[in-house]
Amino acid sequence: MDIYHQTLAELCVGLEKGDFTSVELTQSLLDRVAVEDKRLNSFITITATEALAAAASADEARANGNTGALNGLPIVHKDIFCTKGVKTTCGSKMLDNFISPYSATVVKKIANAGAVVLGKCNMDEFAMGSSNETSFFGPVRNPWNLECTPGGSSGGSAASVAARLVPAATGTDTGGSIRQPAALTGTVGLKPTYGRVSRYGMIAFASSLDQAGMITRSVEDAARMLGVMAGFDKRDSTSINQAVPDYLASIGKSIKGLRIGIARQHFDEGLDERTRTKVKDAISVLESMGATTIEIDLPNINLSVPTYYVVAPAECSSNLSRFDGVRFGYRAENAEDLLDLYCRSRGEGFGDEVKRRIMTGAYVLSAGYYDAYYIKAQQVRQLIADDFKEAFFNVDLIVGPTTPSPAFKLGDKVDDPIQMYLNDIYTVGANLAGLPAMSIPCGFVNDMPVGLHLVGPHFGEEVLLRCGHQYQQETDWHMACPEAFK
Ligand code: GLN
Repeated sequence: MDIYHQTLAELCVGLEKGDFTSVELTQSLLDRVAVEDKRLNSFITITATEALAAAASADEARANGNTGALNGLPIVHKDIFCTKGVKTTCGSKMLDNFISPYSATVVKKIANAGAVVLGKCNMDEFAMGSSNETSFFGPVRNPWNLECTPGGSSGGSAASVAARLVPAATGTDTGGSIRQPAALTGTVGLKPTYGRVSRYGMIAFASSLDQAGMITRSVEDAARMLGVMAGFDKRDSTSINQAVPDYLASIGKSIKGLRIGIARQHFDEGLDERTRTKVKDAISVLESMGATTIEIDLPNINLSVPTYYVVAPAECSSNLSRFDGVRFGYRAENAEDLLDLYCRSRGEGFGDEVKRRIMTGAYVLSAGYYDAYYIKAQQVRQLIADDFKEAFFNVDLIVGPTTPSPAFKLGDKVDDPIQMYLNDIYTVGANLAGLPAMSIPCGFVNDMPVGLHLVGPHFGEEVLLRCGHQYQQETDWHMACPEAFK
């Protein structure tokens, strides 16, 4: 099998056996990126020199019998993670000139585990979007159909993993930005519990919702990555001090007796018929493996999109106030005075979607509207979280579709924000409630991948990974490779 088709687990075996070195592996993937990414635009920065140096150190460490969980394995980072000495843009003109002076905790942990970072991936500007079309660096294309979007905002991460440019990528998920692109590209995307992975050094969009996770081709690889990324960080006051389980050890157990909740609301109108069929088929597979399904009710889940689109812009308007043209990032030229500098730097540095969010956020937080919008949204958020809590008294996880339909064409929704926002209908609930959730491939509609969405209770990553891994032992949807990248 060509080296680029291999998962982290398979590459690990190859490195261990000495079939190839990390330097050879890294060089071959860098060569592939140089050629194939012209069609995708999934990278913003390629860090070839740093990657080859890291690969050489990994080979040396292995020779000395010293191997971390990701030793010598190539990965990429979403360009939202601060990476010391490397350009970190967050998909924005605002940070096009920003070389980070420090690394995010996630970046450090992955480096300490021996991984080789090939570069930084394209994304929607400041992670705001569901199609990667808001990036200052241009849209990313979907490897399954180059006229379609790969989803967003971690679209570069998802496209590069789906096209076999790299076996694994980091991503972030505020309302679905790991799971939605994973679904649309036929990859695995896991958003851990809020607080499971450190947010330190991850450029903030909406701090009470943002969480780092990963996109891989197999659930087993997601388990491996999570084991490295998870854990308490004193630099993130919302990170939780709870032991990190051995995720790889737990995925092998059977799902016999697992109680799977099926929420009526996840199958309401708005779900594409053929996607519904694929998701139902996947649920039947889980039943045939010994899981039982239980109908549940999430009465307030239909309010999750409007709730999210009040809370997330509110937090973003506050977080993005730091980009003022003074301390770092883009600065407008020839400003007349300080106010002119602020206004023009922000006016020229941010794209339309980011401005729309900042304005919405400033509005819902303003004195006259705070109670009517922001406080109300926080109250509804609590109701949504309570619905999940209630459901998890009776079920071990909740399963449904990740997105209402497969990937759409580039340009189709970019001028219609409401249509774009509705892509998040099944994913934002997990962020509002802080729950872990994962998308895994479960079939194709018109040759485009469809995702199965699994949501677990707080710190229930093990049950998601176990269920997903067992499903992947019975099915091979996750092995499919886009024709154009074979
Ligand atoms: N699509 C959602 C948004 O535009 C979610 C983004 C995300 O998870 N970062 O806000």
